[in-house]
Amino acid sequence: MTLRDQPYDVIVAGLGAMGSASVYALTRSQTRRRRVLGIDRFSPPHRLGSSHGRTRIIREAYFEHPAYVPIVRRAFDLWRELESEMGCTLLSNTGGITLGPEDGMLVRGARASAEQFQVPHRVLSAAEVTRDFPGLIPLDHMVGVVEDRAGVLFPEQCIAAMLQVAERSGAELRRDEAVMAWEATGDGVIVQTTSGEYRAARLVIAGGAWMPQLVPELADTLTVLRQPIHWFVPASHPEEFSAARCPVTLWEYAPDRVFYTLPDFGDGVKAAVHYEGQSVDPGRVNRQTSPDEDAQVADLLRRFMPHANGQLRESQVCLYTNTPDLHFIIDRHPAHADRVVVVSACSGHGFKFATAVGEIVADLVAEVKPRFDLDMFRMSRFKGVRVV
Ligand SMILES: Cc1cc2nc3c(=O)[nH]c(=O)nc-3n(C[C@H](O)[C@H](O)[C@H](O)COP(=O)(O)OP(=O)(O)OC[C@H]3O[C@@H](n4cnc5c(N)ncnc54)[C@H](O)[C@@H]3O)c2cc1C
Repeated sequence: MTLRDQPYDVIVAGLGAMGSASVYALTRSQTRRRRVLGIDRFSPPHRLGSSHGRTRIIREAYFEHPAYVPIVRRAFDLWRELESEMGCTLLSNTGGITLGPEDGMLVRGARASAEQFQVPHRVLSAAEVTRDFPGLIPLDHMVGVVEDRAGVLFPEQCIAAMLQVAERSGAELRRDEAVMAWEATGDGVIVQTTSGEYRAARLVIAGGAWMPQLVPELADTLTVLRQPIHWFVPASHPEEFSAARCPVTLWEYAPDRVFYTLPDFGDGVKAAVHYEGQSVDPGRVNRQTSPDEDAQVADLLRRFMPHANGQLRESQVCLYTNTPDLHFIIDRHPAHADRVVVVSACSGHGFKFATAVGEIVADLVAEVKPRFDLDMFRMSRFKGVRVV
């Protein structure tokens, strides 16, 4: 079978944030439009992976590494384009604030990336933070880095929108069908699922927490963490936490330890600890939060946003899939570089980039030079990952 005879140009395994963005990007360009098959073991958007919980932070002053700033800028533009295509709101511009000691990793990193890429921002003392945002009570030695462009994405709507546009543009989507195995043969790939076998010229693997099963080369490199999220009814002054008045917040509450909040969109103030979760098998996750987990976040609110610390309204459990350096994997498969792209392990901070990552995937599939340097996302940076 020649490349042209393959029934699909591309199969995308996994249709969460990165997979739905990939099918969207692969089908949207008239000039590069592909025959795309997307497959997911569940029915996205769903609550069993890494992309649920109603809201995600998007920000530009990127403490994790300045190299993410140009990518998130592209993502911002693409989210807005998707909104226009769908005629709906996917991104709410609430502003954002990064808080912590001036020399802590959060504030230092956010300022460094903002300065390097001229991200408009201002730095406020603890007293100024409370003056401007009365719901936030930092400790005296903390400062806040404010960026007005930051905001909130609605992940379930984002995924639904990307899948809808992709389907409208001709992608075939198979839900509740798991990829069991794949192999490279001749000049294409064969993918076996719970329902059948499919052939394509190229394969994109975007399995989130299930990546170790789909790319066993990564099994010793990735760690899946169980991450609780919580919504609290404000105890008083609810207006201080409305999306119109309260930015998204990231707090370095102890050295190198972070919690974050998102404003009240009608279901309470969302709050969670970043990382710190237990390592789990994604197929056997306890979806109930424990009293200790609920209490840890309530206590952080009591200390830093006391008016928000009312009744716990809801908790959910989500999954982070982390690399050792907490940066992403966006790369060609080391053993099948000409036909398999691996995109995932977004280490708990990937959602905001999804549209831009989808575009990068489409470039890799088309063998076009991606517009960003992907060196820091290569699989080969990890010892033990076989590179051919
Ligand atoms: C609590 C929490 C808060 C977060 N907050 C933020 C934030 O504020 N901002 C931000 O930018 N990022 C945030 N993130 C990170 C971000 O949400 C993730 O990085 C991103 O959603 C990961 O997308 P993914 O496509 O890799 O995984 P997923 O969206 O989970 O998609 C993987 C998909 O693969 C499917 N799949 C797996 N195995 C198979 C198989 N064998 N066959 C077929 N399908 C398969 C799954 O069903 C799933 O749909 C947060 C994550 C969590 C958990």
